[in-house]
Amino acid sequence: MEAVIEEHGSKHQTDAIIIGAGPVGLFAVFELGLLDIKCHLVDILDFPGGQCSELYPEKPIYDIPALPIVSGQELTDNLMKQIKPFNPIFHLGQMASELKWNKTDNSWELKTNENTLIIAKVIIIAAGGGSFVPKKPPLNDIEKYENLGCIQYAVRKIKNFEEKSIVISGGGDSALDWAVNLAPIAKKLTLVHRREDFRAAPDTVSKMYQLKEKGLIDLVIGQIKQLRGEKSLEDILVVPVGSSEETIIKCDVVLPFFGLTMKLGPIANFGINFENNLIPVDTERFETSEKSIFAIGDINHYPGKLKLILSGFHEAALMSQAAHDYIYPDKKIRFQYTTSSSSLQKKLGV
Ligand code: FAD
Repeated sequence: MEAVIEEHGSKHQTDAIIIGAGPVGLFAVFELGLLDIKCHLVDILDFPGGQCSELYPEKPIYDIPALPIVSGQELTDNLMKQIKPFNPIFHLGQMASELKWNKTDNSWELKTNENTLIIAKVIIIAAGGGSFVPKKPPLNDIEKYENLGCIQYAVRKIKNFEEKSIVISGGGDSALDWAVNLAPIAKKLTLVHRREDFRAAPDTVSKMYQLKEKGLIDLVIGQIKQLRGEKSLEDILVVPVGSSEETIIKCDVVLPFFGLTMKLGPIANFGINFENNLIPVDTERFETSEKSIFAIGDINHYPGKLKLILSGFHEAALMSQAAHDYIYPDKKIRFQYTTSSSSLQKKLGV
């Protein structure tokens, strides 16, 4: 499914906001959708799937009922297909950063770090282990160049890199994928890695060497030592392996791809109770210490909790029944199997 992705900085109103588009957040769209509850999802990653797509897209999973074996990415793709009838709106590459209760409208206002504002009656935190934060290289003045937009940890719009002199640093999948994809549109692309051994998929590594042969990629085996330039980045100093002489590489932008760590981030300041970085919930509604804020998946805790996708799916089903109370306070839920759910039949056109 092609996700419907909204522009950064826009304003929206919906029934429920799901923070985290991991497997559990995605399945929540389905369970909420069955009850006619519309959703927007916010995720700091550029793509849905959470840990499954970011950490182990090709690893097999054996404990999803009725799927004897499925890879992390296949599971995400199937969930995206399953929720398509409910038209969820995705705000990707954005961190849920501020949550405020609006007394006048009896609703929540969620802001992202990209100034997107979403208003909803219900918040569902499906933030897993927290947000994935890029690991930064230990370079002096790195914040200065980040603020100038000369250091970037993700490629949000390929167009922004057209005709730029780009340095990519790293040797994993992200570094090699972007080297291969940006080389044809860049003015110049240099890949800097500390050893001649790459951890990326062999096919991408061989594509990178082909582009190097064609003169579209410069490969430097070494480490970035310094970023230089007054009002913007002008060049970097690289120490090549086995040499004491620094090489100067002129560039407009550096993309360090050194992996990601997980941090709880701004959710910790949303005013709900936390215990050991997890959100305590009850096991009937999965509601937090704050009414109409729910927590499902790896982020929550209750006696007997298992951090499994399967458990998160169960939590999403029960949470949705409870969320219904806030969206449709005057309506009773009539329990239905999906085969007889009129709302699903209508969406599926059957
Ligand atoms: P996540 O998958 O962690 O997704 C949370 C999402 O929230 C992330 O995309 C994150 O970017 C986003 N987020 C967090 N904070 C914010 C914020 N402030 N703003 C915006 N976005 C935010 N489980 C199994 O059941 N079977 C297995 O075989 C299995 N194998 C695993 C193998 C490995 C190597 C790992 C690491 C885990 C494995 N797991 C397995 C565990 C499983 O991946 C997790 O239980 C599952 O991913 C939890 O889903 P989730 O949706 O709760 O959280």
